[in-house]
Amino acid sequence: MKVVKFGGSSVASAGQFKKVASIVTSDVNRKFVVVSAPGKRSKDDIKMTDMLIGLAQSISTGEDYQTQLTQILDRYEEIALGLELPTTIIADIRAQLEKTISAYQNSPRLLDNLKASGEDNNARLMAHYLQHLGHRATYMNPKHAGILVSDEPGNAQVLPETYDNLSQLRNMEGIIVIPGFFGYTIGGELVTFPRGGSDITGSIVAAGVTADLYENFTDVDSIYCVNPNIVQNPQDIKELTYREMRELSYAGFSVFHDEALQPVYHAGIPVCVKNTNNPDAPGTLILSTREHSKQPVVGIASDKGFCTVYVSKYMMNREIGFGRKLLQILEDECISYEHTPSGIDNLSIILRSNQLNGEVESRVLDRIRTELEVDDISIEHNQAIIMVVGEGMTSTIGIASKATTAFMKANVNIDMINQGSSEVSMMFGVKECDLNNAVQALYNVYFN
Ligand code: ASP
Repeated sequence: MKVVKFGGSSVASAGQFKKVASIVTSDVNRKFVVVSAPGKRSKDDIKMTDMLIGLAQSISTGEDYQTQLTQILDRYEEIALGLELPTTIIADIRAQLEKTISAYQNSPRLLDNLKASGEDNNARLMAHYLQHLGHRATYMNPKHAGILVSDEPGNAQVLPETYDNLSQLRNMEGIIVIPGFFGYTIGGELVTFPRGGSDITGSIVAAGVTADLYENFTDVDSIYCVNPNIVQNPQDIKELTYREMRELSYAGFSVFHDEALQPVYHAGIPVCVKNTNNPDAPGTLILSTREHSKQPVVGIASDKGFCTVYVSKYMMNREIGFGRKLLQILEDECISYEHTPSGIDNLSIILRSNQLNGEVESRVLDRIRTELEVDDISIEHNQAIIMVVGEGMTSTIGIASKATTAFMKANVNIDMINQGSSEVSMMFGVKECDLNNAVQALYNVYFN
């Protein structure tokens, strides 16, 4: 039995709905269908979720929102008309949205309730369409499915009892269509996952119903081994492990939500990333293990927007509690750090730059300087991180030397190397302006 999830671009128009229906009904094992809200139909289009966020903002600030509401309904209407569904469905969606607006107009829950309506109405439409084609299909609200989450609006975390609840659905007849992106608190309030969170719902459902496979349909044939905006026509990845996917999606691979891997990883359910527009392409399979002797490196990920705080103090290695006190200063400012490579008298802390506005930055540096009495402290901005990822990393001789040769050939200075803590990745820090050259050079040594 399979759980299939369709991302926003796969359900953005009537034409895409038809492709989805044909994918779902071509395989009797595709029993649970999770859908996103309508995504972009073209590059300049607006995602339904963004339209709904705009609507919520206008309502909260007391602005006139009728035009926005009409645009939202028009998009659903276009889909319904293109699928030749009765127009009563649009009247139902309008009534549903108006009910949500009047119930939550003055409540901090308005935003989550409106955002979730994007997937909710799309799931209703999908179930109607499958029924219209003569299939047995049921729309199932996450509340009825038992998807229970923490009360963190826009950042819900699944609660463990969800999995037992979902396991009850295994024996239901027909196709079950579930909207992605949200769940309910134990008290019955709707709360959404982070953006892109329909992947998370799909993964939770796959783990709950113990599916044999979680198929994640998107708009690319497979996951590429490197960002195609940096390297032209890169190789695709046929198979990779959960650990490899986790490391790649951390540093810029956005094809699959990084939080979405956890439920299927724990349940050991394989994931296949496939293309709605080319469903016969094999896609990329994510599994617990893979044979890596022929392909020790699976991908190269990279991301910008980091900064490094360099701290040095003579005899730092002997000073008990130094690291704790330093990290406490970050904790006091609610700053999370990414990596802390260290030497005997030096420690570097790599952070996402967007956490430091000018004021926070000078306060943190001052506190480290005075409270820890360091000899030297400095910060460097505009840093990029490159991760070379592969299960064969620790057991294959010469991987690191290939990388350093590539950097040398590309004339790129390595500001930081971090290898050892992760068994499946090697990390390099470079200046943002050197990123593309470095990634291209690494791709050449590992994949060309
Ligand atoms: N519609 C939501 C978003 O745009 C969730 C998703 O598509 O996965 O973030």
